[in-house]
Amino acid sequence: MIPFLDLRRQYGDIKDELEGAVLATLRSGQYVLGEQVERFERSFADYCGARHVIAVSSGTAALQLALLAAGIKLGDEVITVPTTFVATVAAIAYCGATPVLVDVDPRTLTMDPEKLEKAITPRTRAVVPVHFHGRLADMAAIGAIAEKHGLCVIEDACQAHGAERDGVRAGAFGAMGCFSFYPGKNLGAAGEGGAITTSDDALAERLRMLRDWGQRERSVHELRGYNLRMDAVQGAVLDVKLRYLDGWNAARRRVAQAYDEGLAGAVERPSPAGPADHVRHVYALCHPQRDALRQALSDAGIATNIHYLRPVHLQPAYADLAAGPGSFPVAERYARTTLSLPIYPELTGPEIGRVIDAVNACAERLETTNPPMEMAS
Ligand SMILES: *Cc1c(COP(=O)(O)O)cnc(C)c1O
Repeated sequence: MIPFLDLRRQYGDIKDELEGAVLATLRSGQYVLGEQVERFERSFADYCGARHVIAVSSGTAALQLALLAAGIKLGDEVITVPTTFVATVAAIAYCGATPVLVDVDPRTLTMDPEKLEKAITPRTRAVVPVHFHGRLADMAAIGAIAEKHGLCVIEDACQAHGAERDGVRAGAFGAMGCFSFYPGKNLGAAGEGGAITTSDDALAERLRMLRDWGQRERSVHELRGYNLRMDAVQGAVLDVKLRYLDGWNAARRRVAQAYDEGLAGAVERPSPAGPADHVRHVYALCHPQRDALRQALSDAGIATNIHYLRPVHLQPAYADLAAGPGSFPVAERYARTTLSLPIYPELTGPEIGRVIDAVNACAERLETTNPPMEMAS
């Protein structure tokens, strides 16, 4: 079986370095924040081209704190998309604000700027574009609309470490950028982790206070803060792994290019991305008989996944955010037909070849035994 993801491969490649960094942290006696985390914050800030990085306990914590630091509160509206992991919307709800969803662009699967502009009301305070699958959203258009209406832009860059357009990296487009270091992300910790990037000194100070019980000075709780700090072990692991990120992203792009070439014609794929603005966190194709294709690939020894089975407005917990099925046709069609193929830097040439051959063979078999049905419904 070709696994959908096997994190032991990456660990094996840099085992000595990782174990050295973890052992040094264990011996240091400093287990939360501290030197290891500060070192990582500086390296990641340099990497992203932001003045500050505030390391926190998860990507969800990063989103929640970014919204709080922007002053988002009960009664405010924050615009985002239904084609994302549920955390984007949950974080808005945690602040008491109302998540307002707009459909995505079918070519890029990221926020459609025209739909953003139409959804703005006098209560709108912020916009959270998602760099879905590792592909940058249309930040020029979104930034221009946000500026015109005085909205704070918070990037959900949880899938897009290192994605770059015109020399600007994910996390450096908006007022703040939110990253997740969940183990399977392009830059993954050995557990939970997250970070916020910002070049605004005042926001950075608020974020540092909010993640650590609202303290600027020890034992003085100026703000009603939280315990959302990063562990020292995660800082140490991430500081080692960051040095490999560009190489890993390049390897992911090579896998994606091989899939693009090998699967052309057989299955539908989202439109081609620019050379650097997509870091290929997920490689998704669309097929009208997605479930049958997934089963056939599994029978052929290829593990696949679905990102995500339902758009957020069709999740029971968030059903009140839209008028049910039909509210966001692009998001819904995508969720019905999407299938993610294995993509990670350690995937071997022969494995990539086997995936391509299996997808082509299975898609052709489905075509002849079962002509494509209408994608709607
Ligand atoms: C992973 C992810 C998150 C949440 O990050 P956690 O570290 O799991 O809390 C938020 N948004 C998107 C788009 C993600 O992919």
